[in-house]
Amino acid sequence: MRYSRYLMPTTKETPSDAEVVSHRLMLRAGLLRKVASGIYNYMPAGLRVLRKVERILREEMDGAGALEVLMPAVVPSELWKESGRWDAYGKELLRFKDRADREFCLGPTHEEVVTDLVRREVRSYRQLPLTLYQIQDKFRDEIRPRFGLMRGREFFMKDAYSFDTDEEGAAESYKKMYDAYCRIFRRMGLDFRAVEADTGSIGGSSSHEFMVIADSGEDAIVSCVSCSYGANVEKAECIPCSAAIPGATKGMPRKVPTPGKRTVEEVSAFLAIDPATLIKTLLFETSVGDVAVLVSGAHEVNEIKVKNHLGAEYVRLAGEVRVREMTGAPSGFAGPVGLSVRTIADHSVRSIASGATGANEKDAHLVDVVPGRDFLPEGYADLRVVREGDPCPRCGGALRFSRGIEVGHVFRLGTKYSEAMRAVFLDEGGKERVAVMGCYGIGVGRTAAAAIEQNHDDDGIVWPISIAPFEVAVIPVNVKQADVTAAAERVAADLDARGVEVFFDDREERPGIKFKDADLTGIPVRITLGEKNVAAGFGEIRDRKTGETLRIPLPEVADEAFALVGKKKAECAP
Ligand SMILES: [Zn+2]
Repeated sequence: MRYSRYLMPTTKETPSDAEVVSHRLMLRAGLLRKVASGIYNYMPAGLRVLRKVERILREEMDGAGALEVLMPAVVPSELWKESGRWDAYGKELLRFKDRADREFCLGPTHEEVVTDLVRREVRSYRQLPLTLYQIQDKFRDEIRPRFGLMRGREFFMKDAYSFDTDEEGAAESYKKMYDAYCRIFRRMGLDFRAVEADTGSIGGSSSHEFMVIADSGEDAIVSCVSCSYGANVEKAECIPCSAAIPGATKGMPRKVPTPGKRTVEEVSAFLAIDPATLIKTLLFETSVGDVAVLVSGAHEVNEIKVKNHLGAEYVRLAGEVRVREMTGAPSGFAGPVGLSVRTIADHSVRSIASGATGANEKDAHLVDVVPGRDFLPEGYADLRVVREGDPCPRCGGALRFSRGIEVGHVFRLGTKYSEAMRAVFLDEGGKERVAVMGCYGIGVGRTAAAAIEQNHDDDGIVWPISIAPFEVAVIPVNVKQADVTAAAERVAADLDARGVEVFFDDREERPGIKFKDADLTGIPVRITLGEKNVAAGFGEIRDRKTGETLRIPLPEVADEAFALVGKKKAECAP
């Protein structure tokens, strides 16, 4: 491709409304242009990136045995009413009417359409398992679309749906998709983690989010330094610590005055005790009644874990008035001894040999409190927030925190949609049964944007080669020099003949501008042919990622560049 005949309008200025790096660089590199809020034109080079992402998605979906279909972007309301989501889904669902006053929506996701398809076509267990996928234009009417392709309103997505005869089969289909996702993101050259996610309101029995690691990521995740364990911070498991935390003497509880000391810091400093031996007591109002949650003063309570443990619809910290009603004391002085509220405790409390806690009395705490002797919680469970350096629940290695951008999601749906929409089949005994489903999504544009968030520097994008718009940029420094242009043409033609995607900068621009554009657009390998070098029989090869530059005899330039392309492709191996 020749730059002079191409449409890649790069800009020096940083667009004012672009808040994140990927959005800025996609605009500046001429990959993307805004049409309306959250709605874009994909320019030629930007579309090349999306197509490459899609090609990897198709190859891996096909390889995993999924069948490609294409469902409509416009979906009749009847299907969404059947699943109950027509009313449940918020304003993000763009609803409208046709000329006959029939209601439709622009599909942000296609569980209903695919379930309808399968219930019409699948009759027998012999037709299962079945996994269907599509790469489709979707729409979600975000209230504040921003961050470019990270959160647009119109977006391309690969979504897949599996149908199985039972949970066992569904687990197998899930595993296949999980493995395919790992291959997909490895092939895109991305540093990623599959993290165990909270299943939230969608329901279902297990779920993983695929996170591209990037400092700008919106999600906090933990991952193990030794094994592949990863989880959302809210979901990360904390294993009970076996070592007991030594406390003071094991006498009977004693009341001590703690005037005005409410927080862990204040109380432990005042009593001169290790904060880890303080038994913190938090009072919650929940859908299943009042609950006191105990945790070591060294830790924080994880409300999501409390909610899941209780099986509650909601949990919320009790306000000052309710705390007084439950404990008889102002907040900051609650404790489990003599408390007549249902009490559960985090594992961290069990390892306190002897500790301090609120006395349920203003300005007083109890010391020498022994869990199990002086109070007995209903049970011990994992109820705390994970901390950096905590032991990995799988292997005991250290957990570290990082930030991630969610680009994919695999989800075991169970029978939520198949039951609501009667997607049934006949089993071997001729009995009617409901299909067990899974759903699996990857945002196409979002993945490209995440790749930039992870791979860029001050000069621009640093594409992994498998999703770069072009593989090699060939730059004749001065196109008016016949021998320079001729040498560049020869190298470009040679690489082209070997199947390398060459971007040939034949513009009559100053060298500085050409170099800046090559860096900005992130083409992985740059070949520079300057006047002096060519006269001396040399050319230059520069690695966009490392900045390493090699001066190579002209006849070997194409070979060397080809080898570097090969090396970069190998880094994107599944
Ligand atoms: Zn581990």
